[in-house]
Amino acid sequence: MNSEIILYVLLGIITFDFVLEFVLEYLNLHYQKDTLPEELRDVYDPEKFKKSQEYLKVNTRFGFLTSTFSYAVVVTVLFNGWLGWLDLFVKMTYSNSIMQSLAFFAVLFMASDIINIPFSLYKTFVIEEKFGFNKTSLKTYVLDKLKGYLMAFVLGGILLTALLWLIQLMGQNFWIYFWLVIAVFILLINLFYTSVILPLFNKLNPLGEGTLRAAIEHYSKKVNFPLTNIFVMDGSKRSAKSNAFFSGIGKKKKIVLFDTLISNHSEEELVAVLAHEAGHYKKNHILQGLVVSVLQTGLILFILSLFIFNSQLSYALGGVESSIHLNLIAFFMLFSPISHFTGILANMWSRKNEYEADRYAAETYSAEALSNALKKLSADNLSNLTPHPANVFVHYSHPPLLQRLRALKQ
Ligand SMILES: [Zn+2]
Repeated sequence: MNSEIILYVLLGIITFDFVLEFVLEYLNLHYQKDTLPEELRDVYDPEKFKKSQEYLKVNTRFGFLTSTFSYAVVVTVLFNGWLGWLDLFVKMTYSNSIMQSLAFFAVLFMASDIINIPFSLYKTFVIEEKFGFNKTSLKTYVLDKLKGYLMAFVLGGILLTALLWLIQLMGQNFWIYFWLVIAVFILLINLFYTSVILPLFNKLNPLGEGTLRAAIEHYSKKVNFPLTNIFVMDGSKRSAKSNAFFSGIGKKKKIVLFDTLISNHSEEELVAVLAHEAGHYKKNHILQGLVVSVLQTGLILFILSLFIFNSQLSYALGGVESSIHLNLIAFFMLFSPISHFTGILANMWSRKNEYEADRYAAETYSAEALSNALKKLSADNLSNLTPHPANVFVHYSHPPLLQRLRALKQ
């Protein structure tokens, strides 16, 4: 394929994505019901129901604006071959080819982040503020940005350097070695997420002695869940929304509860949330997920190895000569329909797992407590109660609330 055709294929893919997203969001917006579903009358009042629909409306409209803007930016950049200019610029600045690529990605990353800052400020300090969610101070926002940059530069820099170096050293066989690097990286992130990465952004305190701790430990013992630590995270520092998750692989599980979750739920409901998480562990979802993502990475890297030296990709983006970094970008854009497809499969699998974890919680603890917890979570986060099935199919990693409640009833 020559570069001109590649460019039009790229533009076609981006346009298709843009239109598809637009349609899915539009369907969602017009799928709203006027009456509150029967099952939710105890947690939602008509006013709260209205508010959740208003929240969806505001967010969807804002999404239309941001996606139109990014679409326009990407098309302009591709159409004018601006990435080719950037390529020339880094080649004039650095003589080392790895440095050239690192600089290229650094500029691209910074530029795309900076043009998105106004949107993210508006989202946090206007939309979230209006609905009573925002607890972020400007100082936290700025610090988050700086720490995020630091993380991206350190971790991204290490991975990219390894990738570029292996490509130089091994030629097309780089993919096997880099696959190994990625597998180790995924493992390390899983091992150190709560002990190293999360504390950069949040305070984690062990849950103090008391009835909640006793109830959680009692349940864990009963089902043989290897819980080593229970942390309370200061989620309220940024948002009134609440959540819980657990991390760690093998025999060392840590559960992290948002302080906002603890303050809004009864002890019974919190144990039910933990029981759901324990279900994921017992049904091996975490391990399966890791294995699948490692296998998927291997496949992507192998396909990448077939394209990485194809200079037509560079020309398509406006490069005057072949560059690894231009080829990488063009490859991942061409690959995006496939990754959307695998994303949909991953979501289907994840929704199935959610039902399994719910069922586990119902069998080992209480269906009613979990139902109540899910209802409250949804109400507190103003989730969309009636998403369009097409939107659920593509985007939802968790089944919609009503379907989960119905499944729990059985
Ligand atoms: Zn889950």
